[in-house]
Amino acid sequence: MKKIAVLPGDGIGPEIMAEAVKVLNALDLSLQLDWADVGGKAYETSGHPLPPATLKLAQEADAVLFGAVGDWKYDKLERSLRPEQAILGLRKALGLFANFRPAICYEQLTHASSLKPELVAGLDILIIRELTGDIYFGQPRGRRTAVDGHFPGAEEAFDTMRYSRPEIERIAHVAFQAARKRNKRLTSVDKANVLETSQLWKDVVIEVHAQYPDVELDHMYVDNAAMQLVKAPKKFDVVVTGNMFGDILSDEAAMLTGSIGMLPSASLDANNKGLYEPSHGSAPDIAGKGIANPLATILSAAMMLKFSLNLPDAAARIESAVQSVLAQGLRTADIWSEGTTKVSTREMGDAVVKAITTTKTIKS
Ligand code: NAD
Repeated sequence: MKKIAVLPGDGIGPEIMAEAVKVLNALDLSLQLDWADVGGKAYETSGHPLPPATLKLAQEADAVLFGAVGDWKYDKLERSLRPEQAILGLRKALGLFANFRPAICYEQLTHASSLKPELVAGLDILIIRELTGDIYFGQPRGRRTAVDGHFPGAEEAFDTMRYSRPEIERIAHVAFQAARKRNKRLTSVDKANVLETSQLWKDVVIEVHAQYPDVELDHMYVDNAAMQLVKAPKKFDVVVTGNMFGDILSDEAAMLTGSIGMLPSASLDANNKGLYEPSHGSAPDIAGKGIANPLATILSAAMMLKFSLNLPDAAARIESAVQSVLAQGLRTADIWSEGTTKVSTREMGDAVVKAITTTKTIKS
């Protein structure tokens, strides 16, 4: 029996997680679901956003299904106690270095994008972001009095952008392998014209490419990639990039699809153990109202079945069911438009369950 650590978290987290779990249960798989608090909820109950018991559960599980964490009311807490530290702690403890963010624009939702429908109809791209290195974690960092620069003697803050060869090699392998399973096209995004880190990134990606001659590789500077994503997003297939560029580009790609409430994500270790979560946050503005879109979390559960539990057919049943409810015209408020039927979080989950139990698998 496979063990799943279920961590609903804060805000809309518990509401959307309840629907994802309902969907998993409808598949009648042999899964053991173990629940634990995380984020602000865990801070309230045990004084830390990632208590030892939650971490242990995650470490012992085959995969982690994560809702969302955070609330503005915790903004004044010292950094190490803020809810978002739970995600960073889990990534570090579980060795999750590869973040997969698909951006798929469902045919029925093309109008929800801020781009013209013809630019996004059928969009299906995958952004792979390195998660453990880069300027987010590089030392040294801090605040000090400047000894040089334009304003010696002034207060200054500094961070360090760093990447080592093995860090780049392992994410490059993941990206080439992912590209192989899709359309065999990979774009590596960097800023090699300005940054040493990016130059090493580019050199290593080119070296690793020698092992994947069947995959077409191109390189793009991050500023151009940001432009191309809104100009002609369908030109991309798989994109691989560092932590900071990936953070920004994956959010940009998410918005092309219209609603952040539709987008799943996966963060994987070297053995495909992973943490699966919606791309959005805890949405405190709509928490408790029963209107959040649960589909990103439901689709994250599908990614979990595919990547960590090796159950691609079960994953495909979820994906088909989501397509089916959209085709029926069911929409939560974030994706609602004239002529479609507005449903609550729970009604959307129920509809996916119904579609799973009544429709056949479209793809396997
Ligand atoms: P957010 O993603 O929570 O919300 C942005 C907007 O999108 C809001 O208007 C929200 O109502 C809407 N939205 C988000 N998910 C939705 C859904 N499933 N259905 C319908 N509408 C949805 O981002 P934010 O407001 O910047 O952050 C809120 C909190 O979430 C902050 O504390 C932030 O730190 C945290 N956060 C957590 C994660 C995570 O847990 N991985 C990620 C991002 C932000």
